[in-house]
Amino acid sequence: MRFATKAIHAGVEPDPATGAIMTPVYLTSTYAQTAPGQHKGYEYSRSDHPTRAALERNLAALEGVDYGLAFASGLAAENTVLNLLQPGDHVVATRDLYGGTYRLFERVWAKYGIEFSYADGEDIDALRQAFRPNTRMLWIETPSNPLLAITDLRAACELTHAHGALAVVDNTFATPYLQRPFEFGADIVVHSTTKYLGGHSDVVGGALCVRDRAVYEQLKFYQNAVGAVPGPLSCFLVLRGIKTLALRMRQHCENARRIAEYLANHPEVKTVRYPGLPSHPGHERARQQMLDFGAIVTMELHGGVERAMRFLSSTRLFTLAESLGGVESLMCHPATMTHASIPPEERAKIGITDALIRLSVGVEDVEDLLEDLAQAIKNSR
Ligand SMILES: *Cc1c(COP(=O)(O)O)cnc(C)c1O
Repeated sequence: MRFATKAIHAGVEPDPATGAIMTPVYLTSTYAQTAPGQHKGYEYSRSDHPTRAALERNLAALEGVDYGLAFASGLAAENTVLNLLQPGDHVVATRDLYGGTYRLFERVWAKYGIEFSYADGEDIDALRQAFRPNTRMLWIETPSNPLLAITDLRAACELTHAHGALAVVDNTFATPYLQRPFEFGADIVVHSTTKYLGGHSDVVGGALCVRDRAVYEQLKFYQNAVGAVPGPLSCFLVLRGIKTLALRMRQHCENARRIAEYLANHPEVKTVRYPGLPSHPGHERARQQMLDFGAIVTMELHGGVERAMRFLSSTRLFTLAESLGGVESLMCHPATMTHASIPPEERAKIGITDALIRLSVGVEDVEDLLEDLAQAIKNSR
């Protein structure tokens, strides 16, 4: 099966009880047993339920591996991965990370004696130099949030395996439609299904996909033991969103390309970052490992932070909000919103300036989006 077909069919069977085409939302916490341990495959909804099982099979198929696990949020999925570590272990991460991931590392896990260090994801030598004898994991975000740095997945995974460590890839920005990290050697893929997979800004969820059975068994144990699992309605919404993932991603990417080109040629725009622009430092790497370039565009206007603030309150279609990946266009101010949990000196080092604006380009008619940006640039002068 090819991708769009898998997105609709993989892991989903008509309901055995009723023939319902969509996997039903079973609002039940527990399942009857005829004798202790004798049941139809489900015991208790923290451990498993049919809607989650269908979603997990579907996600695994899209990433091209055997095992999927669904969570209550992207961060719950990430937290479960970190449970694989022991005190004294070290993690290398690409340095331009989702703010919540950084917070989870530094404010939650560091106090249990796990060490984290950060290196430029575009520079394989810098990543290599960050490895220590106790490094157990490389955490890769590509394209990164919000600067859209592109890490060479094959080289990064090879280097990780040479150290006997696990390569974890946050594939939220690309989705498996654009990029399948297991083809380049990844061990674990992380998703915030809140974003493109759900796709409609109506559900919070997360997922892990795993190649190796032993790693899967450990993660499955922690998923059940820690319990940050999604309910059936959340799983239903993500599963429904995924059915149109291929269609949506094509339009998202097409709209983002038009917008990036428009901004790149606008005299009042100081910088534009989009991996699809030939001027982007990771453009060639992105071409090699992605089908298209995604739909996040970041920019800075001439006029600094005051201009940026005026711009953010001048748009009519782009809504100022956290999150990304929904059908509607959103924008955010990373320094005070998504990346506020990163200390200002760290943000400056990475390049997240106070004037930076992140656009999540939706699937509206692109002419309407371009007109909105044009008037907001003008009205923010
Ligand atoms: C949103 C996001 C997360 C966190 O996911 P939640 O569903 O909000 O918990 C992790 N990584 C990236 C790249 C994200 O954009």
